[in-house]
Amino acid sequence: MKILVAVKRVTDANVKIRVNAAKTAVELTNVKMAMNPFDEIGVEAALRLKESGQIDAASEIIAVSVGAATSGETIRTALAMGADRGILVEATDGLEPLIVAKLLQQVVKRENPELVILGKQAIDDDCNQTGQMLAGLLGWAQGSFASKLAIDGNRLAVTREVDGGLENVSLAMPAIITTDLRLNEPRYPSLPNIMKAKKKPLDTLPAAELGVDLSPRLVVISVEEPPARKAGIRVNSAAELADKLHNEAKAF
Ligand code: AMP
Repeated sequence: MKILVAVKRVTDANVKIRVNAAKTAVELTNVKMAMNPFDEIGVEAALRLKESGQIDAASEIIAVSVGAATSGETIRTALAMGADRGILVEATDGLEPLIVAKLLQQVVKRENPELVILGKQAIDDDCNQTGQMLAGLLGWAQGSFASKLAIDGNRLAVTREVDGGLENVSLAMPAIITTDLRLNEPRYPSLPNIMKAKKKPLDTLPAAELGVDLSPRLVVISVEEPPARKAGIRVNSAAELADKLHNEAKAF
């Protein structure tokens, strides 16, 4: 079995996001970058399927990223976690989800995986679109917001986190999964595995050669930081709190 895992390079989750001076995008100059946390969960999910013996031990896990050459570092992280090889679809950073989905569709056509795992959303643009669009483009079944994943014969058993609780679905393969937070806790790559990852194959495919129209459909009009919150105050008693909530905040 072949599993493709999409890994996006995003601002590190611990970095405080700032908007650039022109208010057109998030400032990325001199900012620490990392693999999107939901994609780390995706790599871990693929590794666990292989290690648990649910799929053939010879199964191949391929990490794919769409972006500038620096996204190769993110692929190397996936390789250090245990993925077998990587594909960098070289393009400008910040392509919108529909274009990323179309580029991933072309990679799927070349590689023929039975399963593609993506994160439920990238923490930089919070779009939550790419996996769903890829499933639509391919006409494949999808299990989005997956919090449990297992092979069930020639199908995939997926538990989805939905508003009211959990939904269990059975998907025909090939299928698309998007990961939710509770699916697993991703491993840290060990130093020996980081060294080994340097020798694993990483191919580059120029996006311009994949026959996809790369021109944007969306225009970002402006990006703004949320309004600064007022400092809190300390009250001395429950009565004072109730008084302030009633008379100042008019909460009741
Ligand atoms: P989004 O729809 O932008 O919130 O992204 C959802 C998921 O799609 C991410 O968690 C990644 O798995 C995948 N994805 C989005 N953009 C890229 C990219 N440039 N390269 C690789 N994977 C991506």
